[in-house]
Amino acid sequence: NNSEAEKMIKVHELLKKMYHHLLLNTKEGQNALNYLLHRGFTKELIDQFEIGYALDSWDFSLKYLLKKGFELPLLEKTGLIIRSESNGSFFDRFRNRIMFPVKDAQGRTVAFSGRSLGNKQPKYLNSPETKIFNKGRILYNFHQARPFIRRKQEAVLFEGFADVISSVHAGIEHSVATMGTALTEEQVKLLARSGGTVVICYDSDSAGIEAAFRASKLLVEAGCNVRIAKMPEGLDPDDYIRTYGKEKFKNDVIGASLSLMAFKMEYFRKGKNLQDEGDRARYIQEVLNELSSLPSGIEQELYITQLSEEFSVLKETLMAELRNINKRKR
Ligand code: ATP
Ligand code: MN
Ligand code: MN
Ligand code: MN
Repeated sequence: NNSEAEKMIKVHELLKKMYHHLLLNTKEGQNALNYLLHRGFTKELIDQFEIGYALDSWDFSLKYLLKKGFELPLLEKTGLIIRSESNGSFFDRFRNRIMFPVKDAQGRTVAFSGRSLGNKQPKYLNSPETKIFNKGRILYNFHQARPFIRRKQEAVLFEGFADVISSVHAGIEHSVATMGTALTEEQVKLLARSGGTVVICYDSDSAGIEAAFRASKLLVEAGCNVRIAKMPEGLDPDDYIRTYGKEKFKNDVIGASLSLMAFKMEYFRKGKNLQDEGDRARYIQEVLNELSSLPSGIEQELYITQLSEEFSVLKETLMAELRNINKRKR
């Protein structure tokens, strides 16, 4: 029922405040705070994102929540407290982790993601799916970003929480991230409803590029205009901002994002020698395949003109091939 969901949210709100306090004001939190400051998270960012620290204890949160009057069955439902299969005792899910509150579109804390300090695995531990938390329906920072997304008619989509926080620090307030999974239809709807353009800014490894292509397919189908921001290989957006600074990120990464088509054309060129006739033909074929799925005939024509000029192939030949591809598709 409804009041159960409300109680579960209350539990999250209380723990969020406690974790934040533990991070900032206790000796036990000192290590975690140093880690964050050392990584370049400022005091202001820690406050804005209400980042906290879960103590290295099996039952600190359990005892705290019991003292606040919550009952064990409810606590178990929040996923924050786990019941041991073997002996039925209860313990804290999150221990010795930096705690990122995860909020729904109304700004209510409905889950946490906890990052380990150093290299302990798993690096990020998320709350399980509960009555109040469905990770496919939530975008990290959507609540704070939404008014900026509306105003700019644009959102910037990242893979990681740290990327969002650094990006907001760089003045890009319309930044959001998925919850460690592929972009879902529900998340696409959130983005499509509030803004026209989505700039995808994923890691530039092959996993990131493939994820960006899959995400862009869904976004285009939902009517979004997709752009792709490129990152140098091996860096993620947060690394980039810390290495090269906010201004360079704004101008050379977000500001220099490419239309999806332009990005794909660049991608198809990689590893090909366009002086070679075979490679050149393959390249043109790949671009035409891609063009055939563009909804706008005008856009198609523009790219056809570009190809025709660059490779001295008659526009008519390219158009005929495009029609062939469309015929084969149907
Ligand atoms: P950091 O900069 O703190 O190392 P990151 O955001 O760069 O973190 P990535 O390894 O790039 O981390 O992962 C991107 C996102 O995927 C994370 O922000 C997190 O949401 C999710 N993620 C990463 N590792 C895990 C994991 N082991 N379990 C669940 N989600 C994870
Ligand atoms: Mn990655
Ligand atoms: Mn990353
Ligand atoms: Mn990172």
